[in-house]
Amino acid sequence: MSIKITKMIAKTHCYIGQNHPNYVIIHETDNWAKGANSRAHATAMKNGNLDGTVHYYVDSQECYQTLEHQDGAWAVGDGKGKYGITNKNSINIEICVNPESNYYVAVDRAAQLAAMLLNQYGWDTSHLKRHYDASRKHCPRRILDEGLWDNFVKCTKSYMKKGTNAGSVKPVKEEEPAKLYRVRKTWADSKSQIGAYAYLDNAKIACPAGYSVYDWTGKNVYTNTTAKTGTQATKLKGLTPADLIKKIGPLFTADQLKTGVLASVSMAQFILESGWGKSGLTQKANNAFGMKQNLSGNTWPGSKWDGKSVVSMRTGEQKKNGEHYTITANFRRYPCIEDSIGDHSAYLAGAKNGNALRYAGLKGCKDYKKAATIIKNGGYATDINYVNQLCRIIEQYKLTDYDVKAGNTGTDSKPAATTPTSTTTQKKTFKVKVTANDLRIRKGPGTDYAFTGKYTGKGRFTIVEEKGGWGRLKSGAGWICLTVNCVTRV
Ligand SMILES: [Zn+2]
Repeated sequence: MSIKITKMIAKTHCYIGQNHPNYVIIHETDNWAKGANSRAHATAMKNGNLDGTVHYYVDSQECYQTLEHQDGAWAVGDGKGKYGITNKNSINIEICVNPESNYYVAVDRAAQLAAMLLNQYGWDTSHLKRHYDASRKHCPRRILDEGLWDNFVKCTKSYMKKGTNAGSVKPVKEEEPAKLYRVRKTWADSKSQIGAYAYLDNAKIACPAGYSVYDWTGKNVYTNTTAKTGTQATKLKGLTPADLIKKIGPLFTADQLKTGVLASVSMAQFILESGWGKSGLTQKANNAFGMKQNLSGNTWPGSKWDGKSVVSMRTGEQKKNGEHYTITANFRRYPCIEDSIGDHSAYLAGAKNGNALRYAGLKGCKDYKKAATIIKNGGYATDINYVNQLCRIIEQYKLTDYDVKAGNTGTDSKPAATTPTSTTTQKKTFKVKVTANDLRIRKGPGTDYAFTGKYTGKGRFTIVEEKGGWGRLKSGAGWICLTVNCVTRV
């Protein structure tokens, strides 16, 4: 058994002739953009466009060798040799996580490639390491997050025994016919197939509830009988608004206790975005928040999505000028509403914009107007009336009843006392500390106002007027957002 490897060798961004391999290191690209496959990375590397470089890129379809083994990659230098693994004693493999690549197949192929290299050098799997082992960096991310490493090593061992061997650094044809384990609903229903795997354990991991694994003869070797549990959107369809709120309110209270994201605001988003749970996407996929397959091009901790179940839908968007348009996009599919709520909150609490939290200040925020403003300002919605719409729903249906209050678990049914400070104008002067160089100044209080082209820079500033979470600078330069992480009152 061997996998086809295409050579596209780069000679820049590496240590020419200085690598003396003693380890095979596994990475993941962490690049979730469409089209970010092995070929795209190999091409970018060849053109000198990548700061980090490796010897191999592998996805579910292709594999590229991008450096000669004797040349050292720029891959694990962040460990500074602390754990004995360096850029000058390692061969580095990067697994692609782009949406077109079947992740588990890519992992399986990376194990084949690793087995081939270990056999070539006559090493056992003690020479097989993660980037994490070289520097404690959280890489390969999904392998770490999903606890796949032990199985990866086991799988590599098995390929080593099967004689996945070297010499195949030149293009080699794949073995035919492949002995693959196929994941389908039934053997006859070949259209339902979601993947084919050389290693049974990988097929089992990829097998969702209601699906089975079949070997190459069509024999059923495993069935995932995990029952669907949790609230189904189809059960919410016939409810009145009052009954729906009673049914889902406690789910949001429970979620706030876990994630710190305010229940009333999430629930208003649920109502608005799912049309009281009746939208096509919610009914079809238990996806109540329009969560797309790719969000912000990154990942966040605690995602409830399995990383692969999607449904394709048409969706309406709105431009800055208010104009509406429609696109077709892939959306996440969840087994139940609870997972949709949990994934949405995990996203709000953990999504990043560069190195900063996209919705900084949201976690633990108890003021629904402030929370809604943080969500809008983080770029969640393109609809310019989004904050007002959320607040109107919260007030009309008293959704704050489901917010977790200090000292109880959210079962208190008395209307919550909220202080509506954020949309009224306050003319009290106060000082803020700005810790970022690039906080932009706008002409008015909100993202609907244009940038002035100026930045505050780091320092302390006097605010002479506050409106909707925005502050007017005493200098007369304009308004700054007060709800971002880099701004604190002093
Ligand atoms: Zn890495």
